[in-house]
Amino acid sequence: MQKRIFGKLSGGEIVEAFTLAGAAGAALEFLTYGGIVRSIKMPDRDGTLADVVLGFDSLEPYLAEHPYFGAIVGRVAGRIPGGRFTLEGKTYELVKNDGPNQLHGGLRGLDKRIWKAEPNERADGADSVRLTYVSPDGEEGYPGTVGFSVTYTLTRDNVFIIESEATSDRTTPVSLTHHSYFNLAGEGSGDIFDHELAIFSDRAFLVDEWMTPLGRTEAVAGSACDFSSPRRLGDVISHLFRKHGDCYALPGGHELYLAARLSDPASGRTLAVSTNERCLQIYTAANLDCPSAGKFGRPYLPFAGFCLECEGYPAGVDFPEFGSILVASGRPQRRSTRYAFSTCQPS
Ligand code: BGC
Repeated sequence: MQKRIFGKLSGGEIVEAFTLAGAAGAALEFLTYGGIVRSIKMPDRDGTLADVVLGFDSLEPYLAEHPYFGAIVGRVAGRIPGGRFTLEGKTYELVKNDGPNQLHGGLRGLDKRIWKAEPNERADGADSVRLTYVSPDGEEGYPGTVGFSVTYTLTRDNVFIIESEATSDRTTPVSLTHHSYFNLAGEGSGDIFDHELAIFSDRAFLVDEWMTPLGRTEAVAGSACDFSSPRRLGDVISHLFRKHGDCYALPGGHELYLAARLSDPASGRTLAVSTNERCLQIYTAANLDCPSAGKFGRPYLPFAGFCLECEGYPAGVDFPEFGSILVASGRPQRRSTRYAFSTCQPS
């Protein structure tokens, strides 16, 4: 595992970059700012490495406007309708940053905080780092002082494991996600239209015109958002609502569930996503409009990457039937998501 200084905030705080090593030259670099996964280098079927996530070369563009490239997103990922919720008889008004709603934890969510990093020893010897951050009571409108811990591991067989834990001194909603934009052909190589996607869920959540959750699901069988067998994204995207991608219902529980598989037939790179979260939000990067150029100065246009966000139901305070997102004092919340990289031969 390697560590370097990546940059400095205006207040003088140092942002470090850690590199976790996997197999066959694979490597994952993340920042202590926002826990941002800056690069993931993975071999193709011939062993040639490419960086498969969008991001930047330096700290400055990460401090400016960007669409959560690679970040830890929270306290609650996704859109909270009306930017408010009522808990134990009290209504909490959150910071609103998406019209009348809150998106991805507000204006200064967990993606814009400095996390403390310490090595995490594992029996299998895999490179692993634990990130921690304490979010004070009232941050972005949320009640409770919450201690967050997010552990990143890259295994010897190229599985990126994310394990999160949240503790709180009072009942409060927590639902984190990981926001990498994957491009298995290599970031900056163009759009993801030739990628193939399978999603192992038969129900998607309904949303309103703001894309906030309505508290209902519908069967996807036979519809545009049915990925029960692999489909080429370029054939599907224009038929999706706002070309955005939907949020799918997953079983949740203790076991990890294989939620989706994304592959790039040309390079053979394949990504299997497993999680014990209740939702998989996919995002085609349709709205990608990033003022800063990406790595090596290459611009990122719409559809340059693809997000597979495992999370709780964003309106889970009001709809506990889709899985509780509440953390209570003395009852930590633990979740885990795995992004397993491999390669496949041409079919
Ligand atoms: C959301 C998109 C949003 C993007 C960047 C995704 O998780 O689903 O609607 O544009 O994040 O904020």
